[in-house]
Amino acid sequence: MPDRPKNVVILGSTGSIGESALKVARDIPDRMRVVGLAANRSAEKLAQQLAEWDVQEGCLADSTLLDDCRRQAPAGVNLRGGEDGLVELATLPEADMVLIAIVGTAGLRPALAAIEAGKDIAVASKEILVMAGEAVMTAAREKGVRVLPVDSEHNAIFQCLEGRNSSEVSRLILTASGGPFRKKPAAELAEVTVEQALNHPTWEMGPKITIDSATLFNKGLEMIEARWLFDVEMARVDVIVHPQSIVHSMVEFVDSSVLAQLSVTDMCFPIQYAVTWPERVPNQLPPLDFAELAKLEFEAPRWDDFPALRLAQRAGTEGGTLPAVMNAANEVAVAKFLEKSLRFPKIWETVEETMDAHAVVAHPKLEQILEADSWAREFAAGLLT
Ligand code: NDP
Repeated sequence: MPDRPKNVVILGSTGSIGESALKVARDIPDRMRVVGLAANRSAEKLAQQLAEWDVQEGCLADSTLLDDCRRQAPAGVNLRGGEDGLVELATLPEADMVLIAIVGTAGLRPALAAIEAGKDIAVASKEILVMAGEAVMTAAREKGVRVLPVDSEHNAIFQCLEGRNSSEVSRLILTASGGPFRKKPAAELAEVTVEQALNHPTWEMGPKITIDSATLFNKGLEMIEARWLFDVEMARVDVIVHPQSIVHSMVEFVDSSVLAQLSVTDMCFPIQYAVTWPERVPNQLPPLDFAELAKLEFEAPRWDDFPALRLAQRAGTEGGTLPAVMNAANEVAVAKFLEKSLRFPKIWETVEETMDAHAVVAHPKLEQILEADSWAREFAAGLLT
């Protein structure tokens, strides 16, 4: 056992993943100590967390609310604002690991800064690897730091691979719940409401990722994330629908054997494994009751009715700036859908149109990725006005 707990900074502590990470810290205090917390606009909640967890370093990305947060946070807490504040928190000298659980693309600069400062990163924010997988993994290799996957599917694959070489892998098989519209006829998708799309059958998550689960863009983003995390080309990344969300993903090896990772659906499992890896430690989480489960089902995804998967395959195969463009256009369209000013299928139609209009830059630098991201946001917003 290590002689002290791992010091972890949580970026996005007020969100669904952030709260699960705090639960993990409570569950395994000998292994995980929280040393920094960051949010965007939840000033009161961040102040409460800083007090409850006795954390001295905090950041609120929206600086206009910083005074509010300062008033409510315990005296003596070092609070900063803005993107620079996130970067400062991600590079705290006492941090061993930075958990990136910020929704959207705002986690990219802090993630790269953490790597540059020699910190391991635990990545929940899939946008980071989708936009800049090549740059992030190259920087991590150069610095000799770890990129530990927190997304349950990638954490499952990470557990199944246990360091095996990608040449031994014939397929990474990501499981997908299928979302709330798994059985909905294609003709009815145009009429689905925001409330129906937010009603995920198996996972409790933030609103953006829940809509992505309904369109299957979430699985598409995960395909690209897997491509970079595990260094396999898109042709070896597959998807299978598994409505119970108990098998979190699988690896098929070249000898046709398959390893799978299973657990109760709770993000505390992958978060804990990312923190304690390569060790496993006891916790308060419930084990699986196989007799109660009774059955695990699998079915092929509806590729034609949910075009997000093919768009992601295309973006991941073509690479360059295209995944960043896909991701940005999707964020714009999802935000509009959540505002109830867009029909559901318009999400993927907007993404496709934006991807078609983009001139891809191969092996982009960070600035080119960010440029493509801004371009796509503007273009997609233009399509929706
Ligand atoms: P939530 O919407 O629940 O939480 C998002 C968190 O990010 C909040 O703490 C929010 O702060 C913070 N945040 C948002 N924008 C910024 C910003 N610009 N700067 C700093 N902080 C910001 O999202 P989730 O927890 O569901 O998801 C987080 C990430 O993890 C996403 O990328 C998602 O795809 C991924 N993920 C989530 C899973 C889940 O089960 N929830 C599973 C696998 C991956 P505030 O409260 O102030 O808005």
